[in-house]
Amino acid sequence: MIRKIFREGFAAGVLGLGALSLGSSLGSAAELRAVELSASDDGAQLTLDLSEGAQHKLFSLEHPDRVVVDLPNTHLADGVRAPGPEGVVTEVRFGAQPDGTLRVVAELKSALPAHSGWVPDEEGHRLILTIGAPVAPAAPKAVRTPHAPGEGDRDVIIAVDAGHGGEDPGAIGRGGTREKDVTLAIARALAQRIDAEPGMRAVLTRDRDEFLELRERIRRAHAAHADMFISVHADSIRDRSVSGASVYVLSVHGASSEAARWLAERENAADLAAGARRDDQSTLEPVLIDAAQNQIIGVSASAAERVMSALEGVGEVRKAQVQRAGFVVLKSRDIPSMLIETAYISNPAEERRLRSAREQARFADAIAGGLRSYFTQNPPDGTRFKQEHRGSLVSAGGAALAATP
Ligand SMILES: [Zn+2]
Repeated sequence: MIRKIFREGFAAGVLGLGALSLGSSLGSAAELRAVELSASDDGAQLTLDLSEGAQHKLFSLEHPDRVVVDLPNTHLADGVRAPGPEGVVTEVRFGAQPDGTLRVVAELKSALPAHSGWVPDEEGHRLILTIGAPVAPAAPKAVRTPHAPGEGDRDVIIAVDAGHGGEDPGAIGRGGTREKDVTLAIARALAQRIDAEPGMRAVLTRDRDEFLELRERIRRAHAAHADMFISVHADSIRDRSVSGASVYVLSVHGASSEAARWLAERENAADLAAGARRDDQSTLEPVLIDAAQNQIIGVSASAAERVMSALEGVGEVRKAQVQRAGFVVLKSRDIPSMLIETAYISNPAEERRLRSAREQARFADAIAGGLRSYFTQNPPDGTRFKQEHRGSLVSAGGAALAATP
């Protein structure tokens, strides 16, 4: 059976034969935990998240044209579903072979070259299969979490990060309002609303006037197993007439505007301004992006869009588009993250709003509403939210375990 398939594979032209030895992980059973597809009319990217690396074989077959990946000694985790058809990919299916090999088949509209590569991540191993022309990975349907996928009733955890603190006051308004105080007030109000949401729970990175390095904020979100990281700010800008909210995600290639780049540089300087890490220039390093982080940014951007449109309901939005820049605080490699500039403390009217408990509550309501809307459509695996909002999800096609190539 296997030999026949190999002959067939070579006859059809083996386009890539990936085999990677990963030492001690060989021989122990691996689990395929998630499969994501993003495709266009001339290319596709299939992302396979495994519990560990495995020797894999990639080959293509004809009639119909398809790309096949064999993962020896691998099984499919409970609840993993095949992505539905998209672009050049007409079907993705799984097949468990008698020898314990898990076969993943992507059926194509036409023959295309394929290659594969491993991307190590913190929780397991990710195999990325590129078919035809490269495709920018779309936002995955589920947020990656450190928890096993499948059924479960854990809460969706949101890390709420009040910007600045301690010896770093952040921006200061003309009326003397300090950014670090309003970010803490809004963060607390937001955490209350998240906690009031069934199936959601907030974790504050700081709940007092405390200086935290940017990376410590990410570390605390990790320690809490957060599904999302929200950094709350209210910065100033030289032009005091500028007003309105903005939402930022990490940039892939430079900032979306000069103003966004300038803001990111200022936020990144928070560590230095407070005297920490003077000998460590890591905050000034360029942001390194790989496929895994690219995917996290995609998730961040779709969540940020929901928050953005919720903020539009509260008042003015400065730019009706999610902005991008190289914020260090958004650099988590596995937690989707966004930075929200609720309003400009440099604008006298907005400074008054930021001081008002009623207005702080309105910001918190809007952000919580945006998050609820995002997680209703994209509930992470293993959460009560997923069980309760299953009905609102569009079926993405089922896994056919009996599938043959
Ligand atoms: Zn700030």
